[in-house]
Amino acid sequence: MARRKKIYEGKAKILYEGPEPGTIVQYFKDDATAFNAEKKDVIDGKGVLNNRLSEFFMTGLTQIGIPNHFIRRLNMREQLVRNCEIIPLEVIVRNYAAGSMSKRLGIAEGTQLPRPIVEYCFKDDALGDPLVTEEHIAAFGWASQQDMDDILSLALRVNDFLSGVMLAVGIRLVDFKIEIGRVFEGDYQRLVVADEISPDSCRLWDIKTGQKLDKDVFRRDLGSLTDAYSEVARRLGVLPASNVTKPTLIN
Ligand code: UDP
Repeated sequence: MARRKKIYEGKAKILYEGPEPGTIVQYFKDDATAFNAEKKDVIDGKGVLNNRLSEFFMTGLTQIGIPNHFIRRLNMREQLVRNCEIIPLEVIVRNYAAGSMSKRLGIAEGTQLPRPIVEYCFKDDALGDPLVTEEHIAAFGWASQQDMDDILSLALRVNDFLSGVMLAVGIRLVDFKIEIGRVFEGDYQRLVVADEISPDSCRLWDIKTGQKLDKDVFRRDLGSLTDAYSEVARRLGVLPASNVTKPTLIN
């Protein structure tokens, strides 16, 4: 069998050349990293869960007409996606204060924000993904004004979709990060949601108990990360049937 060409290996995923032109295979690893890769571990099953969860969210986006790179899931750890040129920004949407925003502005974690706030970070591991403004983005040519209008609209639509899906299963979407890619169709370019949407890139809190069901479980040593992600997958009906705990029958 021919060996696939590896295009890129990141912290949580490997990208391989896809079977057709313009496609890429995303392989989800079990590796977990935090604090710019200062904290590292291998979490059994995380890649399988994130592959399934990202498929679930991207398919939902497609169903409501939000363009994204997802084509189809190939197997437990891999999905086929459209090749796109990733804009070097992390687009963060926040509904409640947490993490770096709480630290930066001294707002208690969990405080509801007056409206969703969108932030941009420059994707550069060596610099620790610094927060940037639209001024930097325009001046350095990372994205045009038209791109920024489209990115804002995509980010807010994804926020409404994800918030609703999560609310329906008793989970608060505190914040999340997405990445945006350009796909070229003839003379035109289109922006699509790319990378992944999973508990690695969202903050998800149980609405009743406040229990964290996202990567903060790993960042802050709060217990089993696979238990937390499995809980999200179970509530969304995403876990393969064999993994869903069957209710105990009492006579
Ligand atoms: N996030 C991410 N990748 C990053 C940085 C942040 O997926 O490199 C996500 C993170 O999981 C959270 C949101 O973006 O859901 C906001 O993160 P924050 O800026 O608070 O940074 P953190 O506290 O995670 O360092």
